[in-house]
Amino acid sequence: MSNISTNNQKIPGQTEQTRIPEDEINKLNKLFEKAGPDKILRWTVDTYGDGAVLSTGFGASGIVLMHQFSLIKPGATAFYLDTDLLFGETYTLIDHIRERMNLNLVRVRPELTLEEQAEKHGDRLWESRPDQCCYIRKVLPLQRFLSDKNAWITGIRRDQSETRKDTALFEYNDELKVLKINPLATWSEDEVWSYIQINDLPYNELHDKGYPSIGCRPCTRAVGDGEDLRAGRWSDSMKTECGIHSK
Ligand code: SF4
Repeated sequence: MSNISTNNQKIPGQTEQTRIPEDEINKLNKLFEKAGPDKILRWTVDTYGDGAVLSTGFGASGIVLMHQFSLIKPGATAFYLDTDLLFGETYTLIDHIRERMNLNLVRVRPELTLEEQAEKHGDRLWESRPDQCCYIRKVLPLQRFLSDKNAWITGIRRDQSETRKDTALFEYNDELKVLKINPLATWSEDEVWSYIQINDLPYNELHDKGYPSIGCRPCTRAVGDGEDLRAGRWSDSMKTECGIHSK
């Protein structure tokens, strides 16, 4: 669909990457603004092959993308950051996804166990220094995993929160040196749930209990009527993102 050059891309196994020029990113954003996520994923697979990976926290958007990715490229790599603090319902969903979808679903772990983290940085770090906890359990493992990849596909959407309202379909992440691709940026919450229902896909049962956005157990609560979709994340603090979606 696009003949935009990506000559500067990393190839799998190679860690050096030159930044993709801004005008090329802009062209991609214009070209695909009205295309569906399936077309964006197809372009990504055609362009990057095994160098493109999908991250998921098993939210509703992630379920849609995993399903489409597995149909477009059976055996494609999706990965999740297992902080050791996910909800039991999330681990149950992971088992269902493994049964249902043809994916290479990779569990990415932090270097420190919870015990080692408590010993080194103090008990319940998520209460005293949540940014540091996210850095150890999410940001560093993500950096490690993406260090030899070219394209990082995520499920973030513009309608999820004020901080995500300007999300582009394509953006170059300077820190991680990958093209970050957000195929569902333009989709609404309703569109995501229609897709899940039409395709009879499994989803986290916590969504039916007032949790539109689900992260780690200590930092996630149910939301009330009229609250932002991500209002239940780190609701005791000013923190709104774990750091993996900062540029
Ligand atoms: S979301 Fe909370 S528990 Fe999970 S890594 Fe971040 S601070 Fe730690």
